[in-house]
Amino acid sequence: MDADERELSPDEAFSLLGNDTRIGIIQTLWEADEPLSFSELHDRVGISDSGQFNYHLNKLVGLFVRQKNGKYELPFAGFRVIGAILSGTYTQRAESTTYELDLPCIGCETRLEAEYDEEMVTVRCPSCDVERSTFGFPPGAFEERDVDELPRTFERWLRNIFSMMTDGICLNCSGRTVGSLVTESEYFEQEAEIGVEFVCDRCNDHAFGSIGSYILQHPAIVAFHYEHGIDLGEESAWELEWLIENEAEIIAEKPLLVELTVELAGDELTVRVDDGLSIEVE
Ligand SMILES: [Zn+2]
Ligand SMILES: [Zn+2]
Repeated sequence: MDADERELSPDEAFSLLGNDTRIGIIQTLWEADEPLSFSELHDRVGISDSGQFNYHLNKLVGLFVRQKNGKYELPFAGFRVIGAILSGTYTQRAESTTYELDLPCIGCETRLEAEYDEEMVTVRCPSCDVERSTFGFPPGAFEERDVDELPRTFERWLRNIFSMMTDGICLNCSGRTVGSLVTESEYFEQEAEIGVEFVCDRCNDHAFGSIGSYILQHPAIVAFHYEHGIDLGEESAWELEWLIENEAEIIAEKPLLVELTVELAGDELTVRVDDGLSIEVE
């Protein structure tokens, strides 16, 4: 069979990567940043037995390594392997740590804390004892970042993941996500009456968010903030009072209809979200 037409089961693909020489080949191609010939690659990987080297290289070709015009390079799947190694989701086990963030609680001005445990971040106010957000975060993302960068990094990570899920794409498996209004969820924030939940119909990954975080990227909301001097592309969602206060109300039960008032400097926008997750702004 042609090496370019190989198809593997998930366990075959994972076991293929469970070998130092093969990971070494992938890392060498990534570090080279240009296609390498067989002998260049062989020299750089540093395996003296060329039969062994050839054997391992051939296992990767057509899957995690591409052979083109007599040279070797990384295809998308190879970069994904590098991405998984760098983000450290599978290779590092960060110890439980608490970071004090340079970000005040909107309720009491105390600095928010982020607890990191088992690859999950929980942002909370230690005084109000209110949890702001909980989300998965790869341990490799802490590398080369100061604690000052964490509030923005966490917030952008969370916002972008949620945005992918609301756009119908699962970040975990790239499958299709389906959203709905929910009044009960194990992911519910404290005291929330209603929220939105997105579930991947392939891997079953979940994302739960408040109504406020769901409407945050609607053009009318972005423009309303912009008119009040707030660039939502820059502003942290954890500093938006109307969003943190989370006062979405159910105004009709069957079908469900939710209303939320967005208030900025005395001006108000009324936003409704129906059970099909359509957003209407008044
Ligand atoms: Zn507080
Ligand atoms: Zn998925």
